[in-house]
Amino acid sequence: MTYTDNNATTRVADEVLEAMLPFFSEKYGNPASMYLFAQESKHPIDAARKQVADFLNAGSTEAIIFTSCGTESNNTAIFGALAALPGKNHFITTAVEHPSVLNLAKELEKRGYSTTILPVDNKGLISLDVLRDSITENTALVSIMWANNETGVISPLEEACAICHEKGVLFHTDAVQSAGKIPIDVQKADVDLLSISGHKIHAPKGIGALYVKSGTRMKPLLIGGHHENGRRAGTQNVQGIVGLGKACELASIFIEDEVTRVKELRDKLESGLLKRIPKSHVNGSIENRIPNTTNITFEFIEGEAMLLSMSDFGICASSGSACTSGSLEPSHVLLAMGVPHSLAHGAVRFSLSRYNTEEDIDYIIEKLPGVIERLREMSPFG
Ligand code: PLP
Repeated sequence: MTYTDNNATTRVADEVLEAMLPFFSEKYGNPASMYLFAQESKHPIDAARKQVADFLNAGSTEAIIFTSCGTESNNTAIFGALAALPGKNHFITTAVEHPSVLNLAKELEKRGYSTTILPVDNKGLISLDVLRDSITENTALVSIMWANNETGVISPLEEACAICHEKGVLFHTDAVQSAGKIPIDVQKADVDLLSISGHKIHAPKGIGALYVKSGTRMKPLLIGGHHENGRRAGTQNVQGIVGLGKACELASIFIEDEVTRVKELRDKLESGLLKRIPKSHVNGSIENRIPNTTNITFEFIEGEAMLLSMSDFGICASSGSACTSGSLEPSHVLLAMGVPHSLAHGAVRFSLSRYNTEEDIDYIIEKLPGVIERLREMSPFG
């Protein structure tokens, strides 16, 4: 198999699996219990919190809340921050967010909030002037993703955050796709809230984390026991937390590989395909992208048909976000960038990881031109 769908999910790193295994069997104590056996589960949670805090340069472990996924981190950040600011009811986000933010904005409207969805240009970038003009006295929170899952485009994050803070508005970022791909320093970026997800950085599915800057007022999303310092009720997922900690430690080491070798592989794949396949082009800003992602439109074909044909060769990629695949609607991200429906339908996302090799890239470059040629012959528009 040639796996190039790492923005959908990643394989669990061997080191991560190894770190997790004891917590499924011999070390199964509930970390909330008092006896010594249970404390064997508690100390690794403390260590993992430190690993995540170091990875984000959070300064303090108290800033890290473990959640069940990126979606929960986003929901906790947005619902939690808004609930703590009952006097303000305006929320701002962008048109290219993941559904865990964009559909939440729709839900907020139903609950009486007013929302502003910032447009993006044809490169997938928001305008900082439009952001500045959209903030009102009633704005409680702005949420802007750090890197886009479909195009890989990186937002002007520090500038956006500074504008919000100038106006006394809280700033959240969904960093699920930037974590492990570009360096993240929450203190330098000065964000108030930041979400990450384990399964995008070689930890398992079902674990995530939320960074909350010290002093940021938040109401919990899940109400129950006093876990996570009363900020997220529910017995802690010890093995998942240990896995996320290890994955963060590894990600800090592998970031160098990501921004050099993985980027070179991505660039080779992209230029190889564009050269061999006529009427193909990259979607989104070429300069402002995470190093592992390319989103390419092949004109006159359907992305879904292409994915199936590629699958016959064992090649895994995506025609949009995993969450929206199965729907025949083209990607909301590409449509927001002004890509016409017909071209958005022909878009395919390749996303690499530290496990991809030169052979993977050569194989895709060898097989894809034939796949596209056959599909175009069958297409009524070809
Ligand atoms: N945010 C972004 C940008 C994503 O790409 C994803 C997953 O695809 C999520 C949030 C949701 O993360 P999770 O799958 O852990 O809920």
